[in-house]
Amino acid sequence: MDHFPPLIKISEDIYQLVVRYPFGMFEMNSFLFKGENGFTIVDTGSESKESIELWEKTVSSGMKIEKLVLTHAHPDHIGLAGWFQETHHVPVFISSLGYKEINNRRKNERPNWIHSFLKSHGSPEIHPNLGNSEAAAFEFEPDGLFENQQSIMLGNETYETIWTPGHSFDHFCFYNQNQQVMLTGDHVLAGLSPIVALWSEKDENPIKDNYASLEKLKAYSTKLALPGHGELIYDLNDRIEEMIKSHTFRLHQILDFVGESEKTSWQVCQEIYGALGFPKFFAPLMATIARLVYLEKSGEVQSEMKNGKWHYKSIKL
Ligand SMILES: [Zn+2]
Repeated sequence: MDHFPPLIKISEDIYQLVVRYPFGMFEMNSFLFKGENGFTIVDTGSESKESIELWEKTVSSGMKIEKLVLTHAHPDHIGLAGWFQETHHVPVFISSLGYKEINNRRKNERPNWIHSFLKSHGSPEIHPNLGNSEAAAFEFEPDGLFENQQSIMLGNETYETIWTPGHSFDHFCFYNQNQQVMLTGDHVLAGLSPIVALWSEKDENPIKDNYASLEKLKAYSTKLALPGHGELIYDLNDRIEEMIKSHTFRLHQILDFVGESEKTSWQVCQEIYGALGFPKFFAPLMATIARLVYLEKSGEVQSEMKNGKWHYKSIKL
């Protein structure tokens, strides 16, 4: 069978499925690679009634699925991995770093860590159940693991696995030399800069990682980039330059706001983004903290713990 209604045909053997659901980012791009043994699917979308219905409709039109490959262990990308395994007996592949992340999330220590982390950066109280609602996404055991710079088959084509920490420490992109296609997951998006933040005490300097991971992709000659959300990208290196510029702009902006007076991340965040309530301030605050951590590690600001809160000020040269 050659026709699957909800799929958008991108090239001879690559298809896109926009998986929609009524929360979070509201939609995610799955990519399907057609091969002799069936389709290889990359990323699933969040778990919801709507996304399951869409996949059922797609699969029930006679599609044979070879395997599922995951870019990184965020709930909107892995949400239906367990469902694919159980309902359609599809083997699931993720990086060993992604598997580690899944195991950490199952221990459910992260919400506690984030609460005290945000508090130490001056944040008001946040909702106690933050992060718990998506716990089910992590309840699956992968059938296979991959590492950095290995070959993985997506359909009939060989892709290189490229470790791109930043948006998440376990993030991978996939590159095919033959067709010059780069699957970028949440590392590079067309319309917005994916959040880069510290998500656990193991994350040290994600902004620095992210810069290096953006530079890494520029070495590949790419005609078409397939991002995890939004529009396809035909000028990947231009988009990467744009993202690097906007990160650098934000860092300068933060340096200006910090000045020589001592401020918490929360104060800096409010000055930049305005007075936001929960949950709206969560992502900007997490991003602001990551930027201040980066600026401190590059010797531009210094921090001091006062009354249980980190205070930053710029270092005058
Ligand atoms: Zn993500």
